[in-house]
This record gives sequence, structure tokens and C-alpha cells, in this order.
Amino acid sequence: MIEFNKISELLERSGSLQSFLDRAVLMVAESLNADVCSIYLYNELTGLLTLRATHGLETNVVGKIQLHVGEGLVGKTFAESRPLRLSHASSNPDYKFFSNAGEDAYDAFLAVPIKYGIEKIGVVVVQRDEKHLFHDKDVKDMIDLTAQFASSIETVRALFQIEQGQEPKQAKQDAFIVHGHAAASGCALAPCVKFRRHPVEHILKYNRIPKRGVGTAEDLEKAITKTTEQLRQLQIDLGEKLPEIASLIFESHIMMLKDHTFTGSMLDKINDGISASRAVAEVAGDYIAMFEASSHDYMKEKARDVEDLALRLLSNISENKSGSKTTWKDHILIVQELLPSDILKITLEEVAGIIQVGGGLTSHISILVRSLNIPMIIVDDISLMRVPTATKILLDAYCGNVYVKPSGEVVETFRERERIRSTAEVSKSQMEDKTLLTDGNPVTLLANINLLSEIDLALDLKAEGVGLYRTEFPFLIRQTLPSEDEQYAVYTKLLQRMQNHDVTIRTLDAGGDKVLAFFDDAGEPNPALGLRSTRLTLRHHEIFDRQIRAILRAGADASSMRIMFPMISSLDEFAEAKSRVLKCMADLKAEGTSISSEPQIGMMVELPAVLEIIDDLAQEADFFSVGTNDFIQYMLAVDRTNDRVADYYCPHHPAVLRGLKRIAEAALRHGIPCTVCGEMAHDTRYIPFFIGIGIRLLSVDPHYLPDVQKCIMEYSTESAQKYSERLLSSSSIKDIESMLA
Ligand code: PEP
Ligand code: MG
Repeated sequence: MIEFNKISELLERSGSLQSFLDRAVLMVAESLNADVCSIYLYNELTGLLTLRATHGLETNVVGKIQLHVGEGLVGKTFAESRPLRLSHASSNPDYKFFSNAGEDAYDAFLAVPIKYGIEKIGVVVVQRDEKHLFHDKDVKDMIDLTAQFASSIETVRALFQIEQGQEPKQAKQDAFIVHGHAAASGCALAPCVKFRRHPVEHILKYNRIPKRGVGTAEDLEKAITKTTEQLRQLQIDLGEKLPEIASLIFESHIMMLKDHTFTGSMLDKINDGISASRAVAEVAGDYIAMFEASSHDYMKEKARDVEDLALRLLSNISENKSGSKTTWKDHILIVQELLPSDILKITLEEVAGIIQVGGGLTSHISILVRSLNIPMIIVDDISLMRVPTATKILLDAYCGNVYVKPSGEVVETFRERERIRSTAEVSKSQMEDKTLLTDGNPVTLLANINLLSEIDLALDLKAEGVGLYRTEFPFLIRQTLPSEDEQYAVYTKLLQRMQNHDVTIRTLDAGGDKVLAFFDDAGEPNPALGLRSTRLTLRHHEIFDRQIRAILRAGADASSMRIMFPMISSLDEFAEAKSRVLKCMADLKAEGTSISSEPQIGMMVELPAVLEIIDDLAQEADFFSVGTNDFIQYMLAVDRTNDRVADYYCPHHPAVLRGLKRIAEAALRHGIPCTVCGEMAHDTRYIPFFIGIGIRLLSVDPHYLPDVQKCIMEYSTESAQKYSERLLSSSSIKDIESMLA
């Protein structure tokens, strides 16, 4: 079997895509002991699969044999996207004979599709004479191999496109619409910009930057000074927009610029006669390779820091900006993968909207994007990556549509809708101070706050407090664990702004899909069921205690501050977390530090297991808050971030509704407050259900407050009770669906 590093070597040695493919077919043929190996690549513009390289067939057919998707055995493999193994290929009805190819003698056939992510790139075929059939192991080997080739082919293609300064060839020119699903609602009409990651390491390998020529030691020194100034300015800008994601964020970049080993190696290379740009790329390339080789995610993240820094330096050295200085401001960003660190650039550059092509989306990235008020759609159509930069796009994240080159009529409809919407915005500020049912009974509306920048909106919309402050974000986007003082500063700001209101601060809910850059998750195979949330913080007291101390100190002058533990799975776990809070209180008092007096300590109800012990927990906890997002995920065993099982993520599943009722009743029995703070709480189909089962506290993202209030004020206690009884009377998802308001 070919090892991966052999493929990288192959890639490095090849001077062109063609020579890479020629070497690749030979290598695969040898590896599988095949007489023939051929690679067909797909061209989206023509819709054809073309034979691009072969070992064993006549070489004069290369470039000439072409098949439509679904045509012949190769086209069929591509269309069905799965391997095809045959012992007598020529007797298969789909077999297509090419007289001049010379494949007659090779009837044992194995074809495997080449895929890169969700993109289908082509097909690789191996053939032998009929005495040497392919076995299961060959299929497995070929699948492994093509998976490795796929990324190489994609890389080579991308590199050629960069070298030639071209947009990908298959750019779709016509207007078209793609339907996806909205991750954060809103609308945007703007030119697009695409974001692909091209590490310096790759730029270097292909000699994109000349070894000699422009750029002296003085140019490098100047670029270092300029880059440092730019980074300082970025820190200031970011500090204003995302205060909790401390301005320290670019500190590691600045530190690197001060590191004499890093910049000194560049100067040494310049003294040896290499150009400044090349020296930056070479040194950065070495560092990137070093960081990427690490098995720790947070070290791999560092490679990105170096890359970012090197691109900044390169752009400052050269007047010719070498493509690194793409502006995202007021553009719709098309990306294949969005990382927490990208959020920084997104925030700084004020993108108009985001389209993510393929891939999953961590729930916290989507929550963050929503908090930043950036419309975002996730689509599965890779053709969007080929839309030329600056093409006008209308992104309608209310319904999940992406209009590429929208017609005048579509744009007009969009403008009219925005006008109506902005009128509606005005009426939003006419919120009632109190939310009352038609019979006068009150319901308390609280805000979920993810970023401090959302507090203003929450207050404008008359939120009566913060039902859920997610503390993850300052942690998620950082490379290091925030210090007690840094956290204290964030919580103090929150509590000061929400003075005289109840504020519930949730302890760190990391792990699962909310991966901390500085915390080694040890590559858990099943992170949703792994060491996450309270399990993680209780395992790492240094994280837990640091946060609790910061919260307790920040609460010293607060009117009503509550502490809440996420993902509690047992009485014992709750007791352990609570006793650590009490210990932190005792420690702080002993140190003479003023702290919050006796905060209420409660828990999120998110795991189905707690239903069976809900009364016991209600006796221990000061309050409950139901996290329906996770409650549904765990109750129905459906990953909340996985689109493929989105149909199964069903809030109105009878088991979910009945479970919610049990929680509400237990809270009532024990006289403790019970809030609902998951996404269900803002859904007007479920609001009367919650009221009907006795919930009187709902916590939602601030911009939902007007709709939620309006909905509540249409129901009486009695009508809501009837509604919930009706929903609870059925055991069928379909029946319940038909009854939803
Ligand atoms: C929930 O699970 O419903 C919840 C509010 O928590 P999060 O979305 O942060 O996991
Ligand atoms: Mg949750």
C-alpha cells in the first residue's frame, strides 16, 4: 500500500498536474499490481469525465475518451458515487467499448470515485486480466488511496489557478439560485469574496515566490514595523467590537515578530542572497510544517497564526500584494469551513453575509454568527465556490435562498421586503414593559446573551433579565485559558449593564462541538458523549475554580446573580459542582475578597436521564433551566449539527413534550423557578405549550423578544392549557405536527 508521504513526495516532484497524474497512475498500478490504471477527471462546465492519465492503455486516447455522468462503467461509478468491482467488465451492459484504447485484455475491473469533501472530482480505475480478480482488500486500498489523491489533485489544481492568477476555470457565469438552510437569519445583497486556505507552505513548494529579486533586509525590517502597527490597531478595533474576546488576541502574532529566532532566520536567509519575500515564506513554511505535525489541535491552530502573520508580512514587503490582501468588508463571504478564529476577521471586516459550502457547522459558531447579526446560509452546492469573485449575490437567510446574479425583479422584491421589515423594526421598540396573558397572568421574558454587544438590544427590547449568559465565547476564540481577572472583567461588565435585573451565568459548556483551542480533546471519537461541559470542568478544577472565582467576585455588587451548571447528569454531579462553588466562596472570603452573597445555584436540564430523578434534583437545585437544544439531541439521539438527520430532530416528538411536562411539574411541586432557554422557547408553535404546562419564564435571543411577547399576549392560561393538553394527548409525531399552532 502506498504511504501518504509518498504521495506528498510525488506531488512535490511533479512539475505539472499532468506529470503528477502520470506518476500517480503508475504508482497506483504498481501498488495494486494492476496492468492498467487510469484517472478520469470531471469538468463541471462540460459535464464530462475525461481520461486524463493512464498507465497501461494507449496514451494517445488521453484527453480524447470522454463520458457523460452515468455513461459507461466510469460514468456510472461517478454518478452513483461508490466503488464498482467487476470480474468481466466487457460483459456488463453498461460497458462502453473504445476501439483504440487497448483495454480488451483487462476484464477484471475496479473503479473508485475520487471525492474531495462533498466535491466529486473524478474516477480512478484499475484493471487486470481476468485471471487476477480484485478482492475486498483491493477495494479498501483503493478507497484509502483515492482519498489521499483527492486532496492532492485539489491542491495542485488550486495552485495552478493561483499561479496563473485565474479564478477556477469552471466559473459559473449565469444567474442561478441555490437553496440551503439558514444558520443565522437576515438578508444581504453584496458582491462575493471567496475564502480558501492556501498555506504559505504550499505557495513555497511551487516556487511561487522567486528566490532572488525584490526585497532587502531593510524592506523586511520596515515590513515588521508596519505589521506590528497594523496588529496593534487591530487589537484596538477588536477591543471595541468584541470586548470579551480580549484584545490580547493578536499578542501572539506580535510576540512572534519580536522573536529573534523567527525574524533572525529570515534576515540570515536574506544575507545569504535570498529575497525578503522568499525568506519570509521559507521560514514561515518551516514553522507551519512544525506546528501542523503536532497531534494537538491547539498547536495546529498555531500554524494558522504563522500563516496569517506571514501573509501580512509578505503583503507589506511587496507593493504587489500577491493576492493576500483580500478585503471582506461589505462582501458576502463564501467559505468551505468556518473556524472560531475566522470570526475575528469577520467581525473586524464587517462582512455582509456568509455562505458556507458543505460541511457541518458547530452550533456555537452559528450562535456566534447570529449574535453578531450576520446572515448566514449553509449550502451543499459546491458550484458556489466557482462563482467569480465580486459576483453580486443576494443572500436571503430568512428562507435559505442564495441568488447568484439576482435579476432586477428579485432585487426589487428584496428591497421592498427590507423596507417593510425596517418599519417593523420600529414597532419592535414599542414593547410592553410586562408580558401578560389575556387573563392578566404574567410571563417573564429574559434574554440569552452570547456576546456583551447584545446587551443593548436586550435592554431596548425590555428583557427582564438574562436567563442564560453563555460564557463559552471568550474561551472559544482564545488560544489560552482566560485568566481569572480577564473573566472577572467580562462578568463585571455584564452585571453592571444588567444592574437591577436577574442574571444567570452558566459555567463553561465546552467540549462536544465547542472545542477549546487550548484544551486537548484527545481526539474523542464521539465528542457529544465525551468529556464535555460540567464533566470537563469538574475534571479540571483549574478551569472550574478560576471561572467560579471570577463570577463570585464580579457578583459582589450585583443585585441578583445566579450560577448555573450545564449538562448535569446526576444528583452527585450537581452536588460536586455546588460544593466546589462553596469552597471557592470560602477561599475568597478567607482571602478577604468581597464576593456575591449566597448566589442561587441551579442547573440546566438537558439530559433525558435526569427525568427519572427530577424531584430529587428539584430539592437540591435553586432553579432549573431547560436547554431544549440538547434535551432533544440526547432524547432522540440526533446530532443537532448534522443536517443529514435534521428530519429526526423533532421538538414535537411526544417523548420530548411529555418529558418537558414532567420537568415543569417537578419544578412547580418543589416551588423552584423553571426557565426554558433552548431554541424552542422562541418558536411560536411551542410557546403556548410551555405556558400550558406551567412555564412562566422564557429566555430567548434578544431579537426574538417582540415576536415572543406578541405570541404570549394572544393566549390565556386556559387556552394555553387546552393547547398543551391536545398536543400531549397524541403519541404520533405526525398527529402532533398537524395540531401545532
Ligand atoms: C440548550 O442546549 O438548549 C442550550 C440552551 O444550551 P446550548 O445551546 O448552549 O448548548
Ligand atoms: Mg446545551
